[in-house]
Amino acid sequence: MPASPVKNAFSVDVEDYYQVLNFQAGIPRSEWGSLPSRVTANTIRILDLLDSHGVKGTFFCLGCVAERDPALIREIAARGHEVASHGYSHTPLTKLSPEALRTELRDSKRCLEDLSGQVVLGFRAPSFSIVSSTQHGLDLLLDEGYRYDSSVFPVRHPDYGIPGAQEVIHDLTTPSGRTITEFPMTVARVWGQKIPVSGGGYFRLLPFLVTKFGLDRVNREGRPAVFYLHPWEVDPDQPDLRKRTSRLKAFRHYTNLRHTAARLDRLLGLFRFAPLREVLRDAGRL
Ligand SMILES: [Zn+2]
Repeated sequence: MPASPVKNAFSVDVEDYYQVLNFQAGIPRSEWGSLPSRVTANTIRILDLLDSHGVKGTFFCLGCVAERDPALIREIAARGHEVASHGYSHTPLTKLSPEALRTELRDSKRCLEDLSGQVVLGFRAPSFSIVSSTQHGLDLLLDEGYRYDSSVFPVRHPDYGIPGAQEVIHDLTTPSGRTITEFPMTVARVWGQKIPVSGGGYFRLLPFLVTKFGLDRVNREGRPAVFYLHPWEVDPDQPDLRKRTSRLKAFRHYTNLRHTAARLDRLLGLFRFAPLREVLRDAGRL
C-alpha cells in the first residue's frame, strides 16, 4: 500500500545511453547513428514495470528518437501514458539560438502529436537547461502551444539549476510578462538543506532510503513530487563507453545500473504516481 495519499508525478526522459550530458564532449552527434540503439527495449522494460503496478506516467520524448522508432511513441501512447517533449536533438537550451530552439519545440511537438494522437502539453529541457540565461525559452514554449514546463531544478549544480527557484508547482513569469505553469524538479528540505529526490542519478547513486525519506517528507507537507528516470538507467548491459568521458562522469553514468529496476519496482509499490498533466489538473493548473 502507498505510504501517502498524495499523487506524485512519474516521468521518463526518453533518450539513448549515448545522448546524455555525460558523453556530450566525448561522443560526437555524427556517431549517434552508428551506435546500437537500446532505447526501445529499455523503455519497454519501464513500461512493463509500470503496467505491473497499474501506474501511468509522462514520457518526455526526443523528436530524434521518435523519428528513428515511431512505433515506440505509438506504444507509449497505446499503453495510456502521457507523451510530452524533451526537445528534438537533446541540445541544451544554452547551446541553441532562439530560432533553433523554436524549430526544435515546433518539430518535436508536431512529430510526437502525429504519432501519439495526443496534444503535447509539456516540455522538459535537455539537461534541465531552463536556467537564468534561457528564460526566453519559456516564451517560445507558450508561442508553440505548450502549457507547462518541468525543467527547473532548484539546486546549485555545475551543469544546471536555479538555486533560488521556487520548489513547488507555480506560475513562472516569462520575459514577455506572460505565465507558464512550472513543475520544478523535487527537492526535500532536511535541516534547512535541499536534498534532490527527483530520481535520475540521485536515485541510482544515493541509498534508496534517501529518496523514500525525501518523498515521504514532501508528501507529508501535502505537496506532490515529480520523479524521473532514463531508459538507459535500467540497462546494465549497455556498451561500456567510460573511456569516452571523464572518470567522474563515468562514475555518475554507470553506478548501480544493475539495481535500478529493482529499486524502481520498490518505489512504485510505496508511493502513488500519475502523469504530470493529471497532477497539474488536480492542482487546478491546466
Ligand atoms: Zn535528457
